[in-house]
Amino acid sequence: MGRPTLQQLLTYVSKVYGIGEKIKRAKDGRKDPQIMESTICCVMLLGFVWRMKSLNQLNQWLKYGRFKKLLPGVRLPRVDAVRESLSQYDLEPLQEMHDGIIHKAKRNKVFQQGTMNGWVVVGLDGVELFESKVKNCDECLTREKDGETHDFHRGVACMTVGSDPHVILGIDHMHPRDGEDKDEGEQTVGKRLIRNLYDTHRHFADVIVGDALYVNAPFINDVRAIGMDAVIRVKNKRLHLVQDALGLFQHREADEHWSIKDPEPKAKRKKQKQKHIHVEAWDEEGFEMGGVPQPVRFLRFRETITENKYRGKNVKRVETTKEVWVVTTLGKHVPAKHVWEMIHERWDVENNGFRELKTKWNIHHCFMHHPRAIEAILMFMMIAINLFHLFIFRRVKDFRKKGITQSFLVEELRIDAVLQDVPLYALLE
Ligand SMILES: [Zn+2]
Repeated sequence: MGRPTLQQLLTYVSKVYGIGEKIKRAKDGRKDPQIMESTICCVMLLGFVWRMKSLNQLNQWLKYGRFKKLLPGVRLPRVDAVRESLSQYDLEPLQEMHDGIIHKAKRNKVFQQGTMNGWVVVGLDGVELFESKVKNCDECLTREKDGETHDFHRGVACMTVGSDPHVILGIDHMHPRDGEDKDEGEQTVGKRLIRNLYDTHRHFADVIVGDALYVNAPFINDVRAIGMDAVIRVKNKRLHLVQDALGLFQHREADEHWSIKDPEPKAKRKKQKQKHIHVEAWDEEGFEMGGVPQPVRFLRFRETITENKYRGKNVKRVETTKEVWVVTTLGKHVPAKHVWEMIHERWDVENNGFRELKTKWNIHHCFMHHPRAIEAILMFMMIAINLFHLFIFRRVKDFRKKGITQSFLVEELRIDAVLQDVPLYALLE
């Protein structure tokens, strides 16, 4: 089989996820628009599948025929019309499109095997969108930097961790708080996000992994209240819980230990030895945590990492150690190794969905500084990324084994737009 094509992708997202039907419901607040709302919706979704870097790039694609064969006889917008539409975009049909994809993925058993050791694991992470010194809007957050006030936008994303495909379940925005001069915290938004996800999708995950921000009673209680478990990294030595646990572990041998070989980034994976991690785990249940009714489990991991350090042509074998502490509501029926893997996968450098969001999909770019447009753009981006991932990992057999990089495929999908002869509306039926 050759490489996956744009035609296959569009057919797949239409047949399996009913995207064609949903695009027809696109809406915005323009009066007597000359360009159809569904056209803007198509153009934005395809633009993000093609990893557009700016609306200006989209404008070039529009102007120089990238959409001509896909949308024959359809009046195409210029960037001004796109901006006008985005600034008054109706988010509801877009939210429905996103929710529908998650719902369908669940029904199609995308997560049936779990994402790690049979569990559906999701992570929460703060996502910096963009910062500006010049323009601002009503929804800007503010911070002081080098004596200057910077305006910025930030959100919190919830995404699956572990096996492919990485699916973004939701992104919520941090808002400036009314009446007080303090912006919303990441923790507040993370809590709201999981609550909303639960309201829409019920049991959307088994385990939620969070960083040190989330080591607190309200978050843990919230996660337990929706029948899920929390795995949270701890960094604060001063917490009573941490002191109690470390004191207890001080004079005792590790309860368990294991070793893994971790692949190094491909470019560096020569014949030399791989990265090797030896993990020792101390593991105890029954710790009290202020404000949390049931006791929690604490794990201390000591990792001894042996890896190659490259300096020019010289390779040196170097050993380092790292301590990781974890608080979890998971009982001991979940082995320490599985808990460690959840943390490891969440912060691993390779094949990490959060990292990819930041490095590959241009989420940091300010496409348009307008509150409504920011929300619409992020939703288009999230939908496009999810559809792309679902396509390559569910529809294309053994995508990873094919050795095609995602960025190469994106480039090919752009070329397909000018090569193929089947119009978009025929594929999206
Ligand atoms: Zn703003």
